[in-house]
Amino acid sequence: MNEKCGVVGISLADREAARPLYYSLYALQHRGQESAGIVTHDGFQQHEHVEMGLVGDAFDSDDLDALSGSNGIGHVRYPTAGSVNACCAQPFSVSFKSGSLGLAHNGNLVNTEEVRDELASLGHAFTSSGDTEVIAHDLARNLLEEDLVRAVKSTMDRIHGSYSLTIMHDETVLGVRDPQGNRPLVLGELDDGYVIASESATIDTLDGELIRDVEPGELIVLKPDGSGYDSYQLFDLEKTAHCFFEHVYFARPDSIIDEKLVYEVRRDLGRKLWEESGIETDVVMPVPDSGRSFASGYAEAAAEDGARTEFAEGLMKNRYVGRTFIMPTQDERERAVRLKLNPIKSTIEGRSVTLIDDSIVRGTTSTQLVELLRDAGAEEIHVRIGSPKIIAPCYLGIDMASRDELIAADRTTEDIREAIGADSLSYLSIESITEALDNDYDELCLGCVTGEYPYDVEGEKTDRDVSRPAIGEQPSAD
Ligand code: SF4
Repeated sequence: MNEKCGVVGISLADREAARPLYYSLYALQHRGQESAGIVTHDGFQQHEHVEMGLVGDAFDSDDLDALSGSNGIGHVRYPTAGSVNACCAQPFSVSFKSGSLGLAHNGNLVNTEEVRDELASLGHAFTSSGDTEVIAHDLARNLLEEDLVRAVKSTMDRIHGSYSLTIMHDETVLGVRDPQGNRPLVLGELDDGYVIASESATIDTLDGELIRDVEPGELIVLKPDGSGYDSYQLFDLEKTAHCFFEHVYFARPDSIIDEKLVYEVRRDLGRKLWEESGIETDVVMPVPDSGRSFASGYAEAAAEDGARTEFAEGLMKNRYVGRTFIMPTQDERERAVRLKLNPIKSTIEGRSVTLIDDSIVRGTTSTQLVELLRDAGAEEIHVRIGSPKIIAPCYLGIDMASRDELIAADRTTEDIREAIGADSLSYLSIESITEALDNDYDELCLGCVTGEYPYDVEGEKTDRDVSRPAIGEQPSAD
């Protein structure tokens, strides 16, 4: 598995792009904390600065001043187990006969080896094991024979998998979304230019206006003088495979993805959770921060049904500790939960509690939180989860866990309840996810909760209709 990242590309009329790119990367920091990078072009040459670490640590004022030019792209990268090193930091840059190329990728290709072998046999030398370098080399080769749009189309014909890309060819910035739209990508307008980014919160940060999502299979080419953009639908619109987890966990709540405000989707999922498995307890409590929108929707629906359940914050978060989901080792993850959350005893002691979280991956956090609440005097603890059971890993760019590490891979809900020590446990159904996202079952990627992916391991597209479970039934060990 490769990275889960954030990408951005900006073209401005008459202003240096480095600082807006830097602010954009701040807005995308939640999508990757391992490394950050910016590539700009000043009309004569390409400039780049790529560093390990958080955005605030990766650049100083001199670095930004040196990134001259009104066009550029940026990237933040997510750490994955065993790959915490500088070789895979992005944007990836390459110079070739007819110009320079910078490339920032969010996603994961499923036929990298095949394309890499083919390019290696043609004399291309690779310096990293990453997908991004493969895409860059393939595009550089196509650009020797084709114009920009045709070259991108030829590369997209060859690569399979999930990708949202921002690309810089000389001073032209491009954005591309894979034909199934697995990863998000949006287009926005600024006072003096245009921006393409993984999430619309980036556009808000720059005081711009969201225009729309980049369509699956669409190429957007920004005009280098910031005066507009051209759109090319390079593939016929086909069945989409949007990653539902963007709405459940990854994206910022204030982002609009595929025309849906993430915050509203999470609240809606919380309401559905109450409808499906609500239980009246003294308090409803979110796991901060990701469970908060779910819990507010759940508590609101409970109140409408006349339940005496009160919404309360019972766990306080230390904001200076990273998300447990992205800690590279199990040992670090276990320590991080205790560092990160502290209970408010007076909210919990002697009371029955519904604890709401967005998902359970390994079960480590849930187990420790239930223990924390018991130690703080909770009388009953009922855990409600705003997504279905994660029963399979992700092959499309999310560093989730291996199958062995997933607590739900081969356990029933009752087994998991016992393992985490809760009095009751319920997950949200797949049907509620598809309803909340206004998508049919086969318009979403649900691979990690069904085991059926839009691509098979050989990198070929699959027909997910064939063996799909009936709506409302999640394939599992139950
Ligand atoms: S397998 Fe899960 S996490 Fe991965 S892309 Fe599909 S829905 Fe998203």
